[in-house]
Amino acid sequence: MPAHVTIPQHLLPADGRFGAGPSKVRAEQVEAVARAGAALLGTSHRQAPVKQLVGSVREGLAQFLGLPAGYEVLLGLGGATAFWDAAAFGLVERRAQHLTFGEFGAKFAQVTDAAPFLEASSVVQSLPGTRPEPRAEEGVDVYAWPQNETSTGVAAPVHRPAGTGEDALVLVDATSAAGGMAADLSATDVYYFSPQKNLGSDGGLWLGAFSPAAVERIERIGGSGRWIPDFLKLTAALENSRKDQTYNTPALATLVMLDEQLRWLNGQGGMAWAAARTKESSDLVYAWAEASAHAAPFVPRPEDRSTVITTVDFDGTVDAAAVAAVLRAHGVVDVEPYRKLGRNQLRIATFVSIEPDDVARLLRCIDHVVEQLRGTGGTGR
Ligand SMILES: *Cc1c(COP(=O)(O)O)cnc(C)c1O
Repeated sequence: MPAHVTIPQHLLPADGRFGAGPSKVRAEQVEAVARAGAALLGTSHRQAPVKQLVGSVREGLAQFLGLPAGYEVLLGLGGATAFWDAAAFGLVERRAQHLTFGEFGAKFAQVTDAAPFLEASSVVQSLPGTRPEPRAEEGVDVYAWPQNETSTGVAAPVHRPAGTGEDALVLVDATSAAGGMAADLSATDVYYFSPQKNLGSDGGLWLGAFSPAAVERIERIGGSGRWIPDFLKLTAALENSRKDQTYNTPALATLVMLDEQLRWLNGQGGMAWAAARTKESSDLVYAWAEASAHAAPFVPRPEDRSTVITTVDFDGTVDAAAVAAVLRAHGVVDVEPYRKLGRNQLRIATFVSIEPDDVARLLRCIDHVVEQLRGTGGTGR
């Protein structure tokens, strides 16, 4: 890092965590863990106190997500990445179609494509920064895409593609969307996520809202004789979730932090409030980038720009990695771009826990650092 570049204290955000996940955990969540202390931590997940906690998380999610009638909240261990394996085993009957426009959508596509008991997956691809459209296809029984492609900052609509068969399921990876973006869950059969992004918890769990059709699919495939590793059996997740338990031991602190975040979100005004807050923060970033002489939003179409993960490209006169390094030295962390994207870029999460005012401060800090690195002697005042 260029040692001479410093950011005056008064410019810095109150909280310097802008990472895309793990992401900022609010102090109230940490306090909830401390409060849970002796009463809950270190006690059996098969007894009432932890089951009540799991029940509270399931109810809090049902309220926040506006769970449609008949839908159920299930959970299991291993995060969204484990859920991809579970879904390949337990939700895809023969063939899946995936939209891939970044790292996360592509990873799920690789999972179903490599599964020896499934047909080769249909992959609809587009360049990073853009997004493709799903298209009805004969023989496809699962359509899958991320609502928010965390590696690029592209958001995709949540809807049922026109012309898909009656029994085709729509699986939406909402890992970086849930808690910070709006969605009509009735347009999905499985809306799943890990809790370490907008939900400000720790990683290691997956949670999802499942439609009656998805539950029926789980039961049918589960009873079909297909070999499924026990840990990845969605029938086991279904059975345990209905009893407010998990198949194996969960991290209790993660559940406590998640429960606290859901209470906060529902108390503030739920999904609509959360979506408005992340839009306010992301609008600040995009307006700033568009007005900047050296930066521009990476995602060309405004309607594709994520409200929870913003990506900003810099021109050749600015070394974004050097900017990120100066920020990091001042406790403002994790604004580096997704590593495999390989761009001269900053990626700034505008998750619901992040104060819009801190986003504004971060942008002033970036301007200050850029000026100093460019040697124009700006004071940053
Ligand atoms: C972070 C992320 C994942 C991976 O989540 P893990 O909990 O690490 O498995 C998957 N999909 C999206 C869209 C993500 O942002």
